[in-house]
Amino acid sequence: MNIPTLLLLLLVAQHALYGAAWWVGAMVLRLPRMAALHWMGYCLLLACSLLLHALDLGLSEGLLVALRNAGMLLACMSVRRGLALFLQRDPRDMEQLGVLIGYLLIAAAIGPQTDQLVARHALMGCALAWVLCRMGAEQVSALRDEFGVRAAWVLALPPIVLGLGLAVRGLHGWWFDVHVGLRLTDDSQGNEMLLLTVLALSTLFQFSLLYLVTFRLLKKLHRLSQQDSLTGLLNRRAWDQALGTERQRLRRRPGPLALLVIDVDHFKRINDVYGHAAGDAALVAVGRALQNVARATDVVARLGGEEFGILLLDTDVPGATAAAERVRHEVSQLQVSHGLEMISFTVSVGAAVQPATESESLRLDELQACADAALYRAKAEGRNRVVIEHFGQQPRLRMA
Ligand code: GH3
Ligand code: MG
Ligand code: MG
Repeated sequence: MNIPTLLLLLLVAQHALYGAAWWVGAMVLRLPRMAALHWMGYCLLLACSLLLHALDLGLSEGLLVALRNAGMLLACMSVRRGLALFLQRDPRDMEQLGVLIGYLLIAAAIGPQTDQLVARHALMGCALAWVLCRMGAEQVSALRDEFGVRAAWVLALPPIVLGLGLAVRGLHGWWFDVHVGLRLTDDSQGNEMLLLTVLALSTLFQFSLLYLVTFRLLKKLHRLSQQDSLTGLLNRRAWDQALGTERQRLRRRPGPLALLVIDVDHFKRINDVYGHAAGDAALVAVGRALQNVARATDVVARLGGEEFGILLLDTDVPGATAAAERVRHEVSQLQVSHGLEMISFTVSVGAAVQPATESESLRLDELQACADAALYRAKAEGRNRVVIEHFGQQPRLRMA
């Protein structure tokens, strides 16, 4: 067995394995199913098309070339469609169908004669280049938002380079009437280089697909680890991280900061009287109300049970007072339906405000303890009220 045949069989085995891996990914690992199945189709079509170079099926050269080329084109169309589905973009089926029909019509016009082989290679190179370059361009625009500009280009470049390379190669062969297709009987260095390049680029391409899938899974896991499953707000872990980030930001750019701790009054009674599901519905309604009151830059989280927190950036005592009062008022207006009854309830709010001048020595855990103490006082004084505390000082302001 000569080196080109060995390399070709390696490519076939590699793509058969990739195909099996995407099948396992789709069926067992719950990867985006349609995308993974399209990528499996790509690998298997490519493997079959390559295998046609090595097998002696007794078919005419013209038919063999037609089958190989059709396999390659369909493989590339399959990977493009899978990628569009993965990125939730239009799969552009009409365009792909147009390319396929155009390719078949021109190939039929060229004819199956052996002396037209260079023309058919040129046509094939151009058709593949169209599909691969369009896929790369679509990838860049779709991946920019999700993965960043640099990653988008790194991921889109292999198919674009491969597509352009195939087109240039095919047209070069046609123009100078040189055979550029793969010939396993040909032990020349050019043949080996071609196979090695395909091997390297296809490996790179598979890794880039795997990277996309893994990156998206990691992002999803990160989001889940930060989210409270009931209300969709940030959870305690994300809240603690947000406090850390805010601390760093305030070191660079000092400013006032307010922290509100909000607790539903007599929440246990809601659970006891109306049931746990009604309690959950009340918590969801509170979460929504808090998000409506907060600005886009504020951090809103469920700290646990029926306790919530809001970090108000660049907010001084008057701002915090207004925000806390708005929270209290909004929640008191909520009506959660339970059968024919409407449940209403109130919250108590404890707030601590860190003035801008003290940002250098900011201790956010102490600020939170201060807000907790204010909440405790709001409860002790009768609930459904706001108590604001100036951080590091005696309580200043109490409101009903
Ligand atoms: P206070 O006015 O002093 O805050 O009284 P409270 O009844 O609100 O406070 P308490 O701490 O006595 O009760 C809180 C209740 O919240 C107890 C717990 O079962 C309930 N709870 C905690 N998490 C959830 C939840 O996710 N869903 C529901 N439905 N209830 C929860
Ligand atoms: Mg409570
Ligand atoms: Mg509580």
